[in-house]
Amino acid sequence: MRLALAASAALVLAAAATSSANAQPLADTAAALRDKALAGSPAYPVLESLTTEIGARPAGSAAQRRAMEWGVAKLKALGFQNVHTEPFTITAWVRGPESAEVTGVNPQHLAILGLGGSVPTPAGGVEAEIALFHTYADLLAAPMGSLKGKIAVVTEAMVRTQDGSGYGAANPIRRSGASEAAKRGAVAYLCRSLATNENRLPHTGALDYTPDAPKIPAAALSVVDAEQLDRMVALGKPVRVKLSLDSHTVPNAPAWNVVGEVVGREKPDQIIVIGGHLDSWDPGTGAIDDGAGVAITVGAAKLINDLPAHPKRTVRVVMFGSEEMDGSGEAYAKAHAAEAPHIVLTGESDEGADPIWSLALPKGTADLPAMKTLANVLAPLKIFVDRAPSRFGGSDVVGLVMQGVPVIDYHQDATRYFDIHHSADDTLDKVDRPKMDQNVAAWAALVYVVAESDVDLRPAAAKP
Ligand code: ZN
Ligand code: ZN
Repeated sequence: MRLALAASAALVLAAAATSSANAQPLADTAAALRDKALAGSPAYPVLESLTTEIGARPAGSAAQRRAMEWGVAKLKALGFQNVHTEPFTITAWVRGPESAEVTGVNPQHLAILGLGGSVPTPAGGVEAEIALFHTYADLLAAPMGSLKGKIAVVTEAMVRTQDGSGYGAANPIRRSGASEAAKRGAVAYLCRSLATNENRLPHTGALDYTPDAPKIPAAALSVVDAEQLDRMVALGKPVRVKLSLDSHTVPNAPAWNVVGEVVGREKPDQIIVIGGHLDSWDPGTGAIDDGAGVAITVGAAKLINDLPAHPKRTVRVVMFGSEEMDGSGEAYAKAHAAEAPHIVLTGESDEGADPIWSLALPKGTADLPAMKTLANVLAPLKIFVDRAPSRFGGSDVVGLVMQGVPVIDYHQDATRYFDIHHSADDTLDKVDRPKMDQNVAAWAALVYVVAESDVDLRPAAAKP
């Protein structure tokens, strides 16, 4: 099957080389790109290079600077045009040594990771009795002042779902739990990792402090350590925990968005902006989050760049430099506000490397002829066009969306994504190359159809 697809791809691409690109039917070239991706796309070598040569690359770190240099070199080596960086600054958060343990008569180690943005504990750590809540709602129901001097712990489990919605539902536990606990008097906060695995690796992620509460140190427990605390508390005796978190922040740390283009042959000023984020969390090597998204979008654009003739519109790939702790999307939207009316489509790949199962298009565009063509090209990939319109696109492009830029959402199978996400297990071996190539096929077909057709995906009210 894959050999036959590869052969047909070669035939169509050869035909494109000997005839004018204008005469080449849109659907045939899109299908050829799809099949070429399925036969082995350029994405995996890009991801292997990034995760092997750079490894973890938190925004603001020395590794992120090396990742930026890697991105520039990689885009140039792959033949992209206008390769450059767009610098901005962030407040970088740098993790130091961390530990947690149960103290008292049954002392034992707890596997934790500090949450991104957490303040450190005082030197020597903080030790206190825990107040354990089985659900986040139970914490919110606790009266003000009732957690005075305690370490609040929430052990609610995140639900595994195909569409990743379990993560969204559980997100406030990690994002807002520390401030909610602090408002009630807690001196520190622990939550069960937002994760679906059953091993001892904790999963980190950013928190947000609210201005109306003291900033208290906060960390994620591994899933099994959260369950261990559940059992200890069930014994009916007070449980004490000692938590030690070190970290510091670096104001005005340099960060970069790395950009390359496939310049359009007829309408270079009409631009499609796609990408993934180059930064990652520190425990793993950022393979599924989000080296995969970088590799998928670079790989798709590379296939288009290699066509005998570039499509009419420009395809721009951005490696966003600070998604996890915010910064890159805001910087990009600000720097490109004047250009936004000419950005004809945007989207971000940031849900791992497992297969895409649906495409959400801008409202009211699914019946346009070019999108019908696209739907037919995507159908063999087992991707359907969702009836619900696109909404979000990804953290790094939502700023453009707010400026009226049309956006797509590719929904990937997220069933196992949160087994790995933000943990030390986010490494290259978790990526299945044929599944990632299905993503590349889908992105290449979509981007080509929009770049080569004159399709207008902007809602009437938002036209420039
Ligand atoms: Zn991500
Ligand atoms: Zn992430």
